[in-house]
Amino acid sequence: MARMPAIFISHGMPSMAIEPGPTASFLSRLPRGFPQPRAIVCVSAHLEGSQALVTADARPETLHDFGGFAPALHAMHYPAPGDPVLADQIVSHLAASGIRAEPLADRGLDHGAWVPLSRMYPHADIPVVQLSVQTDETPAYHLALGRALSPLRDDNILILGSGGATHDLAAMAGHRRDDPPTAYAEAFDRWLETAVTAGDAEALANYRQYAPEADRNHPYPAEHFLPLLVTAGAASMDDRAARLHRHFEYGVLSLAAYRWVESF
Ligand code: ZN
Repeated sequence: MARMPAIFISHGMPSMAIEPGPTASFLSRLPRGFPQPRAIVCVSAHLEGSQALVTADARPETLHDFGGFAPALHAMHYPAPGDPVLADQIVSHLAASGIRAEPLADRGLDHGAWVPLSRMYPHADIPVVQLSVQTDETPAYHLALGRALSPLRDDNILILGSGGATHDLAAMAGHRRDDPPTAYAEAFDRWLETAVTAGDAEALANYRQYAPEADRNHPYPAEHFLPLLVTAGAASMDDRAARLHRHFEYGVLSLAAYRWVESF
């Protein structure tokens, strides 16, 4: 069986679940490019822990962890099953790599997971577990977290990072949805594309020093960047990384997506 890709997507606004747009269309098409996984490990910016947490409910509820959107979005449910056995396997994989981890009970799917998945897999028939990011930990830690997950790709499991390629949320209010990218967000976005497609883990691990305006594009605690690091960490020597999607919203939110896939 072919090894599953590792994929990073930028989830943008929760309303993407019900509003059409270039990123919603991209996500709908995305699963055509690889076989159907037997389960998905989603690393969402919206689940944070002081150590790695893996959601372990068999029937995770749909979390509406946002406010002020259309009633239709608040009424939406994404009834994908969980996979408690897989959650335990992930905890074991991480422990074997020296990373402290625990299963997390009674925690549903947040919008960082279910909003893009509702576009990718609208039938909600593939089990989903979520893995947290740890904002007190370093970029190197998050790359190592991904490395520990990498063997799951041989078991037909999709590693899906869900965050934001740039995420200056404070600046969003000053922009309209279809504004062109600001120079500082575009500069970071370009730098990121170069680092990812070159497989430059050292640059990613030190992005706060190397990337243009990293503090502005990912203000502390940079939780929307960490899923990209985990996903990049899940790549292997044989992988080639490619950018799959290019779009900005509100001038400051890059909705870039990347895929790491075996190159032979
Ligand atoms: Zn988000």
